[in-house]
Amino acid sequence: MAVLEIRDLHVTVTTDDGETEILNGMTLTIRTGETHAIMGPNGSGKSTLAYTIAGHPKYTVTSGSITLDGEDVLEMSVDERARAGLFLAMQYPVEIPGVTVTNFLRTAKSAIDGQAPSIRTWTKDVKKAMADLRMDEKFAQRNVNEGFSGGEKKRHEILQLELLKPKIAVLDETDSGLDVDALKVVSEGVNRAKADSDMGVLLITHYTRILRYIHPDFVHVVVGGRIVEEGGPELADRLESEGYDRYLEPAAGSD
Ligand code: ADP
Ligand code: MG
Ligand code: MG
Repeated sequence: MAVLEIRDLHVTVTTDDGETEILNGMTLTIRTGETHAIMGPNGSGKSTLAYTIAGHPKYTVTSGSITLDGEDVLEMSVDERARAGLFLAMQYPVEIPGVTVTNFLRTAKSAIDGQAPSIRTWTKDVKKAMADLRMDEKFAQRNVNEGFSGGEKKRHEILQLELLKPKIAVLDETDSGLDVDALKVVSEGVNRAKADSDMGVLLITHYTRILRYIHPDFVHVVVGGRIVEEGGPELADRLESEGYDRYLEPAAGSD
């Protein structure tokens, strides 16, 4: 069992106008085996949370903490976070010119496990994971994210997820830009990885659509850099029908 604890997190970003606080008091606990959906309107700070967990240098934690099994994540380098069992799939993944998918995956796996995977099982595992995600074998020889379509980027992320078997995975808008068929394939991949390795999932999404395929145990609504409401799957159903308006506008007659 692993537990990621985010406590009263305050995060600023440096812009031309100085320091702006984006997250102001985010508190969240995720355990292996649990799926948490983070939902909220655009600009509410969802990606900022993901980047902060990932250790992106643009985001400064001014107070609060993030720990994984009691270890201070904020003290860890990006590599150390991955080795500790955190996996981050970003909304806008970067290109890695000159590095093929297959080499990238093998290097990442070796770094995380502290030893290279056995060639025989590894090749088999990669082939199977790619077939499960309906990916062409040629994809393995392409450079990471170079010219990938939106759907290919997402499949590549889920391929990493299935092969690297993290303790806790943060998926930022994995559903964005996917048609229904691709969404199903990607969701099945997440569900397979969950069933395989009992990982915890932090699923960041603006829309409820993906939650029809990946069922959350907990739903958290983020507005203005903090969680304003929490509940079970029924909260997602409510957001589906009502949207985020009631969090953004004062209730009628409240003045
Ligand atoms: P979400 O993912 O919920 O749409 P973001 O975390 O991307 O929200 O952004 C939250 C707020 O922080 C927005 O107002 C956004 O403009 C601002 N912000 C986030 N990252 C940066 C950045 N690197 N530079 C400047 N502003 C940023
Ligand atoms: Mg956004
Ligand atoms: Mg975002």
